[in-house]
Amino acid sequence: MNAPVPADLLVVGAELVATVDADRREIRGGWVAVTNGLVSGLGGPGDPPPPAVRTLRADGALVTPGLVNTHHHIYQNLTRAYAPALGGTLFTWLSTLYPLWSRLDEEAVHVSAYVGLTELALGGCTTTTDHLYVHPRGGGDLISAEIAAATALGLRFHPTRGSMSLSVKDGGLPPDSVVQDDDEILAESARLVARHHDPSWGAMVRVALAPCSPFSVSPALMRATAELAEKLDVRLHTHLAEDPEEDEYCLAVFGRRPIDQFAEVGWAGDRAWVAHCICPNPAEVARLGAWGTGVAHCPSSNMILGGGLAPVAELRAAGVPVGLGCDGSSSADSASLWLEARTAMLLGRLRHGAAAMSARDALEIATRGGAGCLGRTGEIGELSVGAVGDLVVWPLDGVAYAGALSDPIDAWLRCGPTAARHTVVAGRLVVEDGRPVHPDLPAMLDRHRTLAAGIQRAFDDAGINLAAHPEGGKSSAEASG
Ligand SMILES: [Zn+2]
Repeated sequence: MNAPVPADLLVVGAELVATVDADRREIRGGWVAVTNGLVSGLGGPGDPPPPAVRTLRADGALVTPGLVNTHHHIYQNLTRAYAPALGGTLFTWLSTLYPLWSRLDEEAVHVSAYVGLTELALGGCTTTTDHLYVHPRGGGDLISAEIAAATALGLRFHPTRGSMSLSVKDGGLPPDSVVQDDDEILAESARLVARHHDPSWGAMVRVALAPCSPFSVSPALMRATAELAEKLDVRLHTHLAEDPEEDEYCLAVFGRRPIDQFAEVGWAGDRAWVAHCICPNPAEVARLGAWGTGVAHCPSSNMILGGGLAPVAELRAAGVPVGLGCDGSSSADSASLWLEARTAMLLGRLRHGAAAMSARDALEIATRGGAGCLGRTGEIGELSVGAVGDLVVWPLDGVAYAGALSDPIDAWLRCGPTAARHTVVAGRLVVEDGRPVHPDLPAMLDRHRTLAAGIQRAFDDAGINLAAHPEGGKSSAEASG
C-alpha cells in the first residue's frame, strides 16, 4: 500500500473547528488539512490526520473559514477620519472628498491597497472585494495596481471596476475630473476582465463591474454594464438604497424608488450584489429575495453615516444572500471583519431582541453569506473538502477570554477585541502569530503617510482646489516628495 500523500498544511489541536459548511458542522478538537490550495480533509480527535509538509498548532483556538469582505473602498484609507468631512450626511461627505480623491494615481492605489489588504488580513479576512470607482484622468491603471498588491500579499481578491459618468454639470455629485464617458468605462471594464478575471475553481482574482450608484452614473450606463457583465459572465456590484436622500433623488430624477430603478435598468437577478441596502420597504425586500440579489451589510459604516438600520433579518428570511462589508476606509475608518461581525450581531439584537442575531448568525454572514454574494458558495466561506484552503486561527486565551469556557463561537464575538493569530489563504500563511508575513509593511506605511499627506493637501489654505490647476495638480508623489 502506498504511503498517503502529505498535505501541504495541517492545522491541528483546535478547541473548535467551525466549518460553516452546508451542515454547519462544529468539530471539537478538530483538524484541517490543505493540499494544492484546497481543503483536502478535516476531522476530529478520532480521525487520524494525514502527514503534512507543515503543521500549524491551533491549541486553545477557534478555527473558522476565512472571512469574506463584500464591500470596501480601500483607497479611502488615504483620507481616513479626514476632519472637514466628518460631520455631514453621505452626500456632504462625498462632495467634500471627491476633489481629494481626484489626485489618485497608480502608486497611491498600490500603496493604499497594500496597507488596506494587510489590515484586512490581520482582522481575519481572506477574500476581499474592492469597489474602486474613482478613475481620475491620467491616473493610470488603478485596478491593475491594486491587484499587484493583493498578489504580493497572497489575498484572494475581487476588485470591482467602479465607474462614475454623471458629474456636477449633469446633475450628479462628483466633479468633472473624476468621471468618464460610457464608452471608455465599458472598454476599460472589458479590458480588465480579459486581463485579470479567472473563472476557475479556487481563483485568486476575479473582476466584477460596478457603477458607483444611481446618482453618479446614467441609466444607459447601468443598462450597458449589466449587458456587458452578462456577456463576459462576471458579477455586478453597486451601492443601493443606502440613504433616504437617495430615495428622494431617484423619485425626483427617475420618477421611481431606487430598487425600482435598479430593476428598470436590468440589474434584478442573482448576478448582482449591492452595498448597504438600508432603505428597502417590505415589498422590495421580498423582490430582492426572489431575484437572489445579494446584499453587503456594512454595520459600522451605516452607523457612522447615520443612514439607518439595514433590515438584515428580513433580508435573510426572504432568501437574500447577506454578506459583510467593512466599507470605507473613510466612512467606517476601521477595516476589521471581526469588528464588523460583532457589530452586526449587536445591531441585529438591538433591532429585534436578544434572540434575533446569534454569534453563529454573524459568523455565517461573514463567511457563507459573503460566498453567496460573490457567487462562490461551496468554494469560499466554508471549510469542507474541495473548498479553498482559507482559514483563520483565532486566539481564545489571555485577558479578554479568561472565563469564557463553554462556547468558543459565542466567546469569539461576545468577548474581545481580537484579531487573527494566523490567517491562511490557499494553504499559505498571510498572517502568522498576529503579524503579516510579507516583509514590506514598515516601508509601505511610511510611503502611505507621505502619499496621504499629499492628497489631503489638495486644497490650499485659501480653499482653492489645487488638483483643478495644472501647476498645483502634480501627482501626489511629486507633491509630497
Ligand atoms: Zn461603499
